[in-house]
Amino acid sequence: MSDLAETDPAVADAIAGEERRQEENLEMIASENHVSPAVLEAQGSVMTNKYAEGYPGARYYGGCEHVDTVEQLAIDRATELWSAEHVNVQPHSGTQANQGVYFAVLEPGDKILSLDLTHGGHLSHGHHVNFSGQLYEVEQYEVDPETGYIDYDALQEHAEAFDPDIIVSGSSAYPREFDWERVQAAAEAVDAYHLADIAHITGLVAAGVHSSPVGIADFVTGSTHKSIRAGRGGIIMTTDEHAEAVDKAVFPGGQGGPLMHNIAGKAAGFGEALEPEFEAYAEQVVENATVLADVLRDRGFSLVSGGTDKHLLLVDLRESHPDLTGADAEDALHEVGITINKNTVPGETRSPFVTSGIRVGTPALTTRGFGAAEMERVGTCIADVLDAPDDDGVREHVASEVDDLCASFPIYDGEWR
Ligand SMILES: *Cc1c(COP(=O)(O)O)cnc(C)c1O
Repeated sequence: MSDLAETDPAVADAIAGEERRQEENLEMIASENHVSPAVLEAQGSVMTNKYAEGYPGARYYGGCEHVDTVEQLAIDRATELWSAEHVNVQPHSGTQANQGVYFAVLEPGDKILSLDLTHGGHLSHGHHVNFSGQLYEVEQYEVDPETGYIDYDALQEHAEAFDPDIIVSGSSAYPREFDWERVQAAAEAVDAYHLADIAHITGLVAAGVHSSPVGIADFVTGSTHKSIRAGRGGIIMTTDEHAEAVDKAVFPGGQGGPLMHNIAGKAAGFGEALEPEFEAYAEQVVENATVLADVLRDRGFSLVSGGTDKHLLLVDLRESHPDLTGADAEDALHEVGITINKNTVPGETRSPFVTSGIRVGTPALTTRGFGAAEMERVGTCIADVLDAPDDDGVREHVASEVDDLCASFPIYDGEWR
């Protein structure tokens, strides 16, 4: 028995329950993944005890020789993965990475132009409930309601009318590749900075299966626990020109001591992503999403933009299932062991707590070893449940399919403890 199970069974049971939940359910939340036992070990290490304010070789505390090593490894590996001139691996999360960029180059009251949340954007891109929407003046661009693709001409016109200080590209729920060059051109036309937020697609970009904004945008931010499946947190990539401003904005500007255990997890995960197998993984993530899109389209579901270029799909239920809300769909799938999230869709007519869509992603299932054949089974399960959410027979059948798939593809099999 572990120490925790003996001394604090309440917490230990919750952790064991979460492990069981991950093993016994199909994790299809597009931002989630399962990190390796090595990354878990790094994150659960004594690095958590160390204060290391500052950067490698220039800390405000003694005893930093080993945390310096691990942070430098994370930086060097990230530099290689994304070909960035300068990398900061200290942001506690993707949101803090964006905060670091805003703090580096904006003054309160400056203007941000970003993608609307209901069209795939993120809270940290200027939503009024987030600091970014409260400190800065924000206007937003949208996808074309007909095509589901970002309308770059409209974006450019909007930029010319609004004259923003920074344009944010990147998304949480936009199923297509961004045209980084087009956004960059709009930013240059109005003399604005360009922040490309690749939170979800860090892994796809690192593996070269999604185009990279590094070398195009002034700043690139990401989360390190999504498709790149490293230690939990954020990352900022920029040019030498902005390196000092970014480093100062992260520490001391916005954060105190770095989470060295998470940075160790980032280093370990980035090391794995440099192995050739990671490219195959990222390719499979995209292929699996394509297979899933094909199955759902064949079953009559409508997908925003008609399909996907990456690891996620956005299903708009309004046409095919007008009475089924995103929240109902999420609940019905949860009942049978499939975890997805309800999501607003472009032109949303319901509240964000109800929604008319679901977002479905493939990074976590692909990590478990799912390929095209398994994704076809998963797609059929999803369609069966959403077509008959109250049918007990369907539910029973799908739940046993889910059990079978999970048992055939264990994630940790207890091997991380
Ligand atoms: C997930 C996400 C973030 C923030 O990530 P956290 O690590 O949860 O703070 C930022 N931007 C986008 C586009 C995201 O999808």
